[in-house]
Amino acid sequence: MSARIIDGKGFAEQLRARIADAVPPFCAAAGRAPGLAVVLVGEDPASSVYVRSKHRATVAAGMESFEHRLPADTDQETLIALVDALNADPAVDGILVQLPLPRHLDAQAVLLRIDPDKDVDGFHPVNAGRLATGLDGFVPCTPLGCLMLLEDTLGDLSGMDAVVIGRSNIVGKPMAALLTARSATVTLAHSRTRDLPGHVARADIVIAAVGIPNFVKGEWIRPGATVIDVGINRTDDGLVGDVDFAGAASVAAAITPVPGGVGPMTIACLLRNTLHAAHRRTGLATADLP
Ligand code: NAD
Repeated sequence: MSARIIDGKGFAEQLRARIADAVPPFCAAAGRAPGLAVVLVGEDPASSVYVRSKHRATVAAGMESFEHRLPADTDQETLIALVDALNADPAVDGILVQLPLPRHLDAQAVLLRIDPDKDVDGFHPVNAGRLATGLDGFVPCTPLGCLMLLEDTLGDLSGMDAVVIGRSNIVGKPMAALLTARSATVTLAHSRTRDLPGHVARADIVIAAVGIPNFVKGEWIRPGATVIDVGINRTDDGLVGDVDFAGAASVAAAITPVPGGVGPMTIACLLRNTLHAAHRRTGLATADLP
């Protein structure tokens, strides 16, 4: 194995420590802590685990965590009324509705209802539009975390060839927009892409967000490339990414492991977005924040 292993876990711990350091000065200026509200409908086990870790991380950073757990049979009106109440609550800076919602609920309508300036997940079309047009807004946490790891590993990304595999609204599309804004030359690949190995072979940066275990093969990777594996797939062999790690690590210059790579960055970036939301809503400067 020759690749440097990108330590997302360590990077995320440092980021969380810097965020925690920025909380007391905010509290002193605003007279309250930054607040994050998380809404969970139903008892999906994976979602419950995510919500619990978000709560713990929020409290550990010195922020206020407001948890709203609603029964699985909650109707659309009740959920919308809760979002409206959180939009209006001055103690709440960030609102996150944990996905997926039970099937009888219209997730799109719920996400559209969140005040874009409290949309710390960055899923509201207003924030997607801000990202696409280079305005300040909230960027989805997972691609933001990937960008931080990439810039920490490579420095200036301008002029680099990047291939993003997967075009979801949560990962692939915002990732491509972020890389474009950093002046990389971006190919956004998906299930209809012809000759994916050919695209990957030209890339300095490969981001895999597909959801298929070990999908990206080591022999596709250009020697010296940097590989970011977003995939989280539960298999009989445990948790694996979307990249054949052993194969890719033997040719890449740097690669994220699964677990311990991109995963821990997502929650750290959620706290980062909440800190920024709190500052913006209070009229405080964000320039020196992590
Ligand atoms: P998604 O299912 O919404 O999107 C998958 C994308 O992969 C689609 O755009 C599809 O076009 C593309 N795709 C499917 N088959 C393909 C093929 N054969 N060739 C090329 N592209 C193909 O998934 P998502 O929400 O973007 O998540 C992707 C992965 O990232 C999943 O494993 C998910 O668990 C993981 N994930 C991790 C985090 C984290 O915090 N680390 C956050 C979100 C998602």
